[in-house]
Amino acid sequence: MDTAIDTGRLSDAADAATNAGIDALLVTPGPDLRYLTGYDAIALERLTCLVVRASGDHVLVAPKLEVPAAEASPLGRLGVPIQGWAETDDPYRLVSSLVPGASGVALSNSMSALAVLKLRDAMPAVRQVLAGDILRELRMIKSAAEIDQLRHAGRAIDRVHEQVPELLRAGRTEREVGEDIAEAILAVGHESVDFVIVASGPNAASPHHDVSDRRLEAGDVVVVDIGGSLPSGYCSDSTRTYAIGHAPHEFLAYYKVLQSAQQLAVDAVRPGVAAEFVDAVARDAISAAGYGEQFIHRTGHGIGLETHEEPYIVQGNAEPLRAGMVFSVEPGIYLAGHHGARIEDIVAVTADGVENLNATTHDLVVVEHSFSA
Ligand code: ZN
Ligand code: ZN
Repeated sequence: MDTAIDTGRLSDAADAATNAGIDALLVTPGPDLRYLTGYDAIALERLTCLVVRASGDHVLVAPKLEVPAAEASPLGRLGVPIQGWAETDDPYRLVSSLVPGASGVALSNSMSALAVLKLRDAMPAVRQVLAGDILRELRMIKSAAEIDQLRHAGRAIDRVHEQVPELLRAGRTEREVGEDIAEAILAVGHESVDFVIVASGPNAASPHHDVSDRRLEAGDVVVVDIGGSLPSGYCSDSTRTYAIGHAPHEFLAYYKVLQSAQQLAVDAVRPGVAAEFVDAVARDAISAAGYGEQFIHRTGHGIGLETHEEPYIVQGNAEPLRAGMVFSVEPGIYLAGHHGARIEDIVAVTADGVENLNATTHDLVVVEHSFSA
């Protein structure tokens, strides 16, 4: 399930470090390490750190007890030497000794404060910057193999949404529904469940509601926002809105507005338009219908090895979209205390337009017609 990781990513990262005037990237377990080497290392208090030297010779520093796991990971096939450290060694001094004379190092964004400060102590004169700024281009513009994984993730989460209508029944709690959804997320091929939002009735007005013991009722609107990670690490994230029986009239009116705004925003995606333009398209359509104040979050976020990464589809981000960027388009309308709706697709920017990686209907899915509100 590896996404064809070869040493190209490491050499591109080394080039990016050179261009940034940085001597080495210091990458601890997390998405950057996985991106560069395929090694999905566990983050521990014991230091594991990939030293990506601008000069080109890379080394993984790892606790001796983790060396077999590192060797067995895709990193082992890349020919990166692994330097194990024993329990009584100081791994931070070891890292420092691998970049003698360095003036600047870049630390992976997810590095723990413990490691950041210990590295500062071990090399007090060396400037520390964020590796995220240096790896940004590499992580943000997906390769064909990465897009294929995201396509696969999109299809998998679509299969879960197809099962949701039969799980939504008046009398069941959000938690019960959420447990079934979590099982389905794994059953369709994800390795982990990243989040399950089942937001019913008034809870639908809270964009990051989780699940609760609230029982679904006839007349409820239910926002279901779910995602997981494939064995390759690539993530899915899709939201659909459902109704149990007859939804309130006011809701039906603004759901149409939302559906059209979301589609306009997806259709606006193509190379060269600014990220913020896609946000503006969704926001303008919703505002024109009088619901601008009820659309309380940005339109989307990039997705890849992390559910939320660059580019962010938000006002103020003038970054031009480019082929290979993959992000969500997920406007919502939320009437606090009453109900809410969100529609979310993951889209990929292609050479001349957009590919939608989610394919389930955007129409309001009405379940249990026999119940009436
Ligand atoms: Zn989502
Ligand atoms: Zn999302």
